[in-house]
Amino acid sequence: MGKSSKDKRDSYYRLAKEQGYRARSAYKLLQLDAQFNLFKDVTRVVDLCAAPGSWSQVLSRSLITKDKDGGRTDAKPHNINVADANSAAPERQSKPKVKIVALDLQPMTPLPGVITLQADITHPSTLPLVLKHLESDSANVDLVVSDGAPDVTGLHDLDEYIQAQLLLAALNLATCVLRPGGNFVAKIFRGRDVAELYCKLRIFFERVTVAKPRSSRGSSIEAFVVCQNYSPPAGFEPSLEHPIWTGPTRQEDVEGQISEVSLEDAPNGRWVAPFIACGDLSEWDSDATYQLPEMDENGVKRVSIDPIQPPTAPPYKTAIEMRRRQGNGGKIGN
Ligand code: SAM
Repeated sequence: MGKSSKDKRDSYYRLAKEQGYRARSAYKLLQLDAQFNLFKDVTRVVDLCAAPGSWSQVLSRSLITKDKDGGRTDAKPHNINVADANSAAPERQSKPKVKIVALDLQPMTPLPGVITLQADITHPSTLPLVLKHLESDSANVDLVVSDGAPDVTGLHDLDEYIQAQLLLAALNLATCVLRPGGNFVAKIFRGRDVAELYCKLRIFFERVTVAKPRSSRGSSIEAFVVCQNYSPPAGFEPSLEHPIWTGPTRQEDVEGQISEVSLEDAPNGRWVAPFIACGDLSEWDSDATYQLPEMDENGVKRVSIDPIQPPTAPPYKTAIEMRRRQGNGGKIGN
């Protein structure tokens, strides 16, 4: 049993570095896939709020290189051309049709087989950009994932509200690209008003489950909604310019008549999503510290390694440069 810990550099953090993942979040997606079989028959994926890119690494390893269990396929990322992303690792490629589009507000260092875009999921110009890179003008994506999170302020009500808005923005974009039957997975904060979000998601998906992977700290209100079988209301017209819940949403009836539909009327108004704790007790508890064995599974002595992918453009870099220019050697304060 591990000792209780608040150390950010927990076992998943160390394992992520060993296995070449850019962030410990990789294990959340891996554990969600183990529970829900999310990657089965998936060839087109959109990864929203993807920086620094550990979920994209999982997708790339699972769908393209088939090496999700630790191979360091991107320890040295290829500098790929976004228009020809699948040719980045031709010798390892087993499914030439796989398309992975990842986007974030922050720039992302390239990854094999992943088209990386710098964009805001709430902005109307993002949808055409995504469709262009999917080389499609219609909705044919199998899976949309979103690990989006705002910079938390510590004011819980505000953080939960902003997180909910980000989730709705991700849902809105998902409705524009998902094929019927597709799946959507997104980070959610289980705050006071979360039941309302479950209701909204249930309007669009046949099954909505709240899942807590073992690698997500038990002490955190974070969980993931796993929404399966996209089946929007009849006539629903997705749009990034008129996002759902920001005004009337239009629907078209069989005779082509346009009318407004109220999406506020969730099934019964109150609906509790089933909750699943992903993984069994044999997996590491993310709130505990463990002594890793001295040797890894190949008999090689474990050594401390640097982060796989330091931030590309962290805000503190600009601040340090500004201070240097002011001539106080980067010291904080006067
Ligand atoms: N899944 C990522 C991984 O495995 O590396 C980690 C994602 S991180 C927890 C949350 C990300 O959400 C941040 O990189 C942040 O820039 C992004 N984000 C927040 N708001 C966004 C927005 N409006 N559009 C795009 N990305 C956004």
